[in-house]
Amino acid sequence: MRLSRYFLPTLKENPAEAQIVSHRLMLRAGLIRQQAAGIYSWLPLGHRVLTNIARIVREEQDAAGFHEILMPTIQPAELWKESGRYDDYGKEMLRFTDRHDRELLYGPTNEEMVTDIFRACVKSYRDLPILLYHIQWKFRDEVRPRFGVMRGREFLMKDAYSFDLDAAGARRSYNRMFAAYLRTFARLGLKAIPMRADTGPIGGDLSHEFVILAETGESRVFVHADLVARDILAEAVDYEGDLQPLVDSWTSLYAATDEKHDPAAFAALPEASRVEARGIEVGHIFYFGTKYSGPDAMNVTVQGSDGKPVHPEMGSYGIGVSRLVGAIIEASHDEAGIIWPESVAPFRVALLNLKPGDPAADALAGELYAALRAAGTEVLMDDRDERAGVKFADADLIGLPWQVLVGPRGAKEGRAELKRRKTGERHELDKAAILERLL
Ligand code: ATP
Ligand code: MG
Ligand code: MG
Ligand code: MG
Repeated sequence: MRLSRYFLPTLKENPAEAQIVSHRLMLRAGLIRQQAAGIYSWLPLGHRVLTNIARIVREEQDAAGFHEILMPTIQPAELWKESGRYDDYGKEMLRFTDRHDRELLYGPTNEEMVTDIFRACVKSYRDLPILLYHIQWKFRDEVRPRFGVMRGREFLMKDAYSFDLDAAGARRSYNRMFAAYLRTFARLGLKAIPMRADTGPIGGDLSHEFVILAETGESRVFVHADLVARDILAEAVDYEGDLQPLVDSWTSLYAATDEKHDPAAFAALPEASRVEARGIEVGHIFYFGTKYSGPDAMNVTVQGSDGKPVHPEMGSYGIGVSRLVGAIIEASHDEAGIIWPESVAPFRVALLNLKPGDPAADALAGELYAALRAAGTEVLMDDRDERAGVKFADADLIGLPWQVLVGPRGAKEGRAELKRRKTGERHELDKAAILERLL
C-alpha cells in the first residue's frame, strides 16, 4: 500500500477527550473516529487490526471444536421475557419498537437467541455437545462509556455457547474454552490471567475472567508471580484429551480481582510471589447449567438415552474483540506511539522513502516495495511529499513492527536502514540483507 493513496487521518495534537494512552493513540494514529458517545467508526488501519484480532480468535475457536454462526444484532423482546431477563437487564439494554409496535432490542449478549436456535434444531442426546460461536456487534447502554473502544456502547464481541447432556460434559466444554482463551490471548501478544469471577447477570456456578495487567485497568488484581511468568504457547494443548489437569494447574495458583480477593490467603504467599496490579477484563467464561434451558426459563429439552427429556447444561464465553485493540495498545506502546505485536499489526513493514523524487531513493524504495509484496509481506510505503521528520514520527506513531528507512545518500550505495520498532535497534544493510531479515 502506498501511503499517498491511503486513508490515514493522523492527528498531531493530543485529543483532549482521551484520558488514557490507548484512546489517545487510537485517535492520533487514525484508527477510529467517534460518532456518538461510545460509538465508533473503524478507519482503515484500525479496521485491519480489528480484523486480525478476529481472525486469531476465530482460529482458536475453530481449533477448540466450536462452529461459527452469525446471529442478528436485533432481537425480539419475547425471548428475553421467556428467560426472565427482559426486566432484569435494566437500562443497559437498548429497547425499541418497529412500525408494527413489536418490541425489539439491540442484543447485549445472545444466550436467549442461541437457546432458541438450539431448541428448534436439536432433539436428541446423540447430537450433543453443540458448540457454537459468533463474532457480532453488541450494544450496552453503559452509564459511563469511556476510554474509547475499551468501554464502548456498541462493541464487537466473540460470544460462544455450549450445550451438553450433563455437568461432566459441560465441564469439558468449559475446559476447552479455557484453554482456547489462554492460547488466543497469548497469540495476541498479551499476558491474560484467568481469575475466579462473579457470574453477575449471566448467573451460574463456575466462572473465570481473563484479565491482562495494565496500569489503566479498571479493577485491582492480585496474582501469583508464576502465573504471570507462564507461557501457554510453550505447552501442548490437546482438545481431544483431558484438559482438566491443565485447567487445574492454571487455577490452583492465587489469582483474584477485587471482588473475589482474599487478603489472608494472598498474604500467606511468599513476598516474591505476590503481584499486585491493575487489570483489564478481556474475556469471561461461564458455566451456568440449566439457567436458560430449565423449566423456569426457556424450558428446553432433548431426549435422553433412556428416552426421558433432559435439560441441556449450558455455558457461555465472551471475548471483547474491539476492547482488545485498546488493551493491546495499553500493554504495548511507548512515548512515540503504538508498538503492534506482529500477529495483529495492520501492516508488517513501514517502508519510508525519505526523499521522493530522488532517483536513487525512488529506485531502491521501489525495488524493496516490489520484493516485499511479491513475498506476501504487508508493507505500507510512505511515499508522501513530506519532511523526513514527519515520516519518522508517523511511522513510530502507527507502530508497525519494522521500518525500512531509505535515504538518498545510502540509496546511492544501495543501502537502507532497518529499524525494529519495539527496540529501536537499527542496522544499515543492503537490499538483499534487508529482505533476508524480513522474509
Ligand atoms: P465489564 O466488567 O468491563 O463491564 P462485563 O463483565 O460486563 O464487562 P461480559 O458480559 O463478561 O462483560 O462480556 C464479555 C466481554 O465483552 C468482556 O470480558 C469484555 O471484554 C467485553 N465487553 C463488555 N462490555 C464491553 C464494553 N462496554 N465495551 C467493550 N467491550 C466490552
Ligand atoms: Mg459490564
Ligand atoms: Mg466484568
Ligand atoms: Mg464479565
